[in-house]
Amino acid sequence: MIPRPFDYERPRSVEEAVSILAGAGGRDAKVIAGGQSLVPMLSLGLARPDVLVDLSRLELNGIEAVDRRVRIGATTCHRTLELDPEARRLLPLAAEAARHVGNPRVRNRGTFGGSLAHADPAAELPVVAVAHGGEVVAHGPGGERRIPLAEFFLGYLETALGPDEVLVAVELERPPETSGVGFHEEAQRADDFALACAAAVVAPDGHARVVLGGVGDRPLRFEGPTDELPAAVEAAVEPEEDVFVSAAFRRRLAGVCARRALARAKEDAGA
Ligand SMILES: Cc1cc2nc3c(=O)[nH]c(=O)nc-3n(C[C@H](O)[C@H](O)[C@H](O)COP(=O)(O)OP(=O)(O)OC[C@H]3O[C@@H](n4cnc5c(N)ncnc54)[C@H](O)[C@@H]3O)c2cc1C
Repeated sequence: MIPRPFDYERPRSVEEAVSILAGAGGRDAKVIAGGQSLVPMLSLGLARPDVLVDLSRLELNGIEAVDRRVRIGATTCHRTLELDPEARRLLPLAAEAARHVGNPRVRNRGTFGGSLAHADPAAELPVVAVAHGGEVVAHGPGGERRIPLAEFFLGYLETALGPDEVLVAVELERPPETSGVGFHEEAQRADDFALACAAAVVAPDGHARVVLGGVGDRPLRFEGPTDELPAAVEAAVEPEEDVFVSAAFRRRLAGVCARRALARAKEDAGA
């Protein structure tokens, strides 16, 4: 399908981007970053914006440690998380998850901010972000707003971002040095979205956090003793059947992903 015509803006500052979004009146204005989710949606007629606001001129990429957090600029691409040595050192969980996102072409264009703003429940990086915890930094007409990651994902393709806000960065909490992290994904083929995936953080005392993707309308977070979590996850999730797998099979996959992510995190912690 040929997308219907839209205006195209390429602002030079975040303030200009926000003012275009806020000044769109009744027209539907949408941000475009890597375009790896939005362009297919335009082509399929699932998104029909009147105005596209391209972030490519803004300097929003980069990764830096700030105290006990890591700040990831919105337009940092998945490939940077996967391959950049400093990014891998600071965020090994994100590095492991990023290599499961689509294929190298997608990972070179797709952005961390775009993945979170798009909020696909089967996407890997929102799962990693919730496992770390921290805040999304957004800019809107009133200036900066910080949204805790625990409150950011509201449902299927739905977040707490306002229509006139730009996600500029995400600040992830760094787990203590003594913790271990692990990620596991089950998908039909290597390039596919996850049928289910899990990101885990295990403390040396055996307390763990595991976040599941692909088995609900948003990333689902569980906490408790490492050995009890997989069964708790399997009992709690209520996945839906789809064209690929039954609900019962996806529930089993949730348990498998939790168990394997936790096992990797335990090994990483040296426990
Ligand atoms: C073949 C293929 C396979 C893929 N496989 C996977 C996969 O396995 N796992 C996965 O997670 N993803 C996958 N994707 C999607 C890909 O990861 C996207 O990069 C990502 O979901 C969105 O990032 P983007 O920068 O491309 O966002 P865009 O497509 O540009 O935007 C997506 C949405 O987010 C909004 N948005 C983007 N940036 C901002 C911002 N800074 N502030 C406010 N709103 C913003 C846009 O308005 C739009 O609604 C795949 C895509 C393709 C084409």
